Amino acid sequence: MSRLLVIGCGGVAQVAIQKCAQNNKVFTEMCLASRTVSKCDALKDKLEKQGTSVKITTATVNADDSADVAKLIKEYQPDAVLNVALPYQDLAIMDACLECKVDYIDTANYEPEDTDEPVWRAAYEKRCKEKGFTAYFDYSYQWAYMDKFKEAGITGLLGTGFDPGVTSVFVAYAKKHYFDEIHSVDILDCNGGDHGYAFATNFNPEINLREVSANGSYWEDGHWVETRPMEIKREYDFPQVGKKDMYLLHHEEIEALGRNFPEIKRIRFFMTFGQSYLDHMRCLEDVGMLSTSPVMFEGREIVPIQFLKALLPDPASLGPRTVGKTNIGCIFKGIKDGKEKTLFIYNVCDHQECYKELGSQAISYTTGVPAMIGTSLVLEGKWKKPGVYTTDEFDPDPYMEMLNEFGLPWVVDENPVLVD
Ligand code: NDP
Repeated sequence: MSRLLVIGCGGVAQVAIQKCAQNNKVFTEMCLASRTVSKCDALKDKLEKQGTSVKITTATVNADDSADVAKLIKEYQPDAVLNVALPYQDLAIMDACLECKVDYIDTANYEPEDTDEPVWRAAYEKRCKEKGFTAYFDYSYQWAYMDKFKEAGITGLLGTGFDPGVTSVFVAYAKKHYFDEIHSVDILDCNGGDHGYAFATNFNPEINLREVSANGSYWEDGHWVETRPMEIKREYDFPQVGKKDMYLLHHEEIEALGRNFPEIKRIRFFMTFGQSYLDHMRCLEDVGMLSTSPVMFEGREIVPIQFLKALLPDPASLGPRTVGKTNIGCIFKGIKDGKEKTLFIYNVCDHQECYKELGSQAISYTTGVPAMIGTSLVLEGKWKKPGVYTTDEFDPDPYMEMLNEFGLPWVVDENPVLVD
């Protein structure tokens, strides 16, 4: 029996909410709150028409404003808040949870909307020099809540999507059941889906394009090695998908895994991209359309990447037209009983199957299901621990069981092809 407040009602949230409704032993009451409440109302109607037993209400909230979130928490009195809005809102929602002493769960690392804001910019430039990577996001802002969350007796579960989220659970699971020591991890994110558009992003365009157009980096021997965007390319033959080009990116779980598993000598992250996507992205970047800095246009200020977002297809609308599969997982090298060992743990997800089940494409599905699972484990008390933690810091077994139960079954391959 629990009451959950969900903030955001986009592609990922819609999957997470529908999966919570499937898991109605744990989730008995939900408030769906977002900037555009009509999306929450539509989903509430859909679930009620399907006969859900979960008692659902909706609300409007501005999650950039901590006081507005706190006001809603005080009114609704939830046991936990699931933040599936945007990474820009992470800290405001964490502050509200702290004020109201309520558990907090999210799927993505904090990053600021305005990367030119002088105070943030100064701290960012210092961090780039000290840590050696230039991504706009890092865990320092959210890890800084550790003591405050401990004192308040509340749990903060950070990054329970697929990557980060499931990928980090795969690492904990490999360590618990297959290795005495893990020496390298390659996280591979393959989307073999085709939506038929020349260019569209599978999740929020602003967040996606920021991530993909940034420098790459990987963790080696206790420090970051940074690369130019798309500098490192490999081809990999993905089970059930086939051969795809993939490129090394910076990704947030590398930071947490590097800290929490100091034995791992190298951690890399690769994502597949088609040539059309890369050509469009390069062109948009060259003309300044990926910029987050406001420009004046016909007497009013606009942010180029936000304008671009308005032109691109809504990721939540890609479901009916996307065919093909995703394959996301981790390849490990390490030692078991004194012998070298390799392992690949992955999930394959079919875009059309996701659409048939929930009306969404596989990227939202593979993120929304783990968002529900992490929230469920916190609410059930299995992953409840005052402080702020990533998904690799808990017992992976109940999470792995729920992946099988709720639509993301995984495969363990003990003889995988490695990435050079
Ligand atoms: P969408 O853009 O589809 O949805 C975002 C939702 O948040 C929208 O409903 C939006 O409202 C709402 N929102 C935005 N700003 C505010 C605000 N200030 N106050 C209240 N609500 C707000 O994004 P996605 O569903 O694609 O992504 C959701 C999250 O999931 C992101 O943080 C993303 O980074 C993360 N993610 C994580 C992945 C992982 O594997 N870990 C993979 C993919 C995504 P409105 O409808 O008005 O726009």
